[in-house]
Amino acid sequence: MSFPKNIKVRRSGIDTKQRAAKAASDEVGRRERQHQENQEIAGILNGLLNSWCDSDPGKNRDVYFFLDPTLRQRVVVREFLPEDAKVYRTQREWNEYSRTRSWHGANYDGVPYWYPIVNLDAVGKGECSKCKSAQPAVEHYVQTYNSPEGDEWLKEFFVLCRDCNSKTIFKSETSDSRF
Ligand SMILES: [Zn+2]
Repeated sequence: MSFPKNIKVRRSGIDTKQRAAKAASDEVGRRERQHQENQEIAGILNGLLNSWCDSDPGKNRDVYFFLDPTLRQRVVVREFLPEDAKVYRTQREWNEYSRTRSWHGANYDGVPYWYPIVNLDAVGKGECSKCKSAQPAVEHYVQTYNSPEGDEWLKEFFVLCRDCNSKTIFKSETSDSRF
């Protein structure tokens, strides 16, 4: 192998290699970001499927809920429920079930009566910042910090767009206790 004698040729060879290396590392970065975004969206969708079964939402894991059109009430979406899912429609049904629960931290085996069950097209929406279309709004709630000196809870609202695979945060608040 011989080295290029001409300095210009040599330099342009180095530039080409550097450009290629940069393009490759950009591509790796892009894929990593894409992978992280996909992971995050998958986590959100998973939470939307089963956060209703959490007996202390947000205490031990991130929970995600669809909302009613006022964006104040958490709802459960019918299309996200398994067909054979148990649903407690009244407080009385719920009380009966409550008595049979082994310990208060156990997951609920059915949808509690306080979550209205609605169709996906009836959930509260907001505008996706990328495609500007109206997409479902989601509440994210979790205890982000737990210590004797103080706790921190996060409540975040965002628009989830499956077309763009993105979330548009439109409100984010923290508190030192459940809120
Ligand atoms: Zn979008």
